[in-house]
Amino acid sequence: MPTVATRRTNGKIRFKKRHDLTVERGEKPTLPNRKTLAKNLLEAAGQAVKKGFKPRSKEDQEKCLQVCHKCEFYIKSQDRCGKCGCYLSWKTKLRAWNCPEGKW
Ligand code: SF4
Repeated sequence: MPTVATRRTNGKIRFKKRHDLTVERGEKPTLPNRKTLAKNLLEAAGQAVKKGFKPRSKEDQEKCLQVCHKCEFYIKSQDRCGKCGCYLSWKTKLRAWNCPEGKW
């Protein structure tokens, strides 16, 4: 996990770990903005509550991940979807959560 250093007003240097802004060299960050990420997160929570917390089978989860790995929105360095911003290892776990592009 990369670390970012910032200088504080008292002269000390603060090191902060960055979770969500890592991209591989040559790859453009394509995540939605924070407001959209928050909205998507709330929608996903609502869908899980509404449709139930039924898990996907390991085989189905693996099929979804294979589709994501070939998708143009896939951000490999973060294992996230650039369309919705979700972490795909989590998003594929529940049947209530689906691809925003309708691919699975
Ligand atoms: S969830 Fe859908 S849009 Fe996102 S990376 Fe996977 S296949 Fe692509």
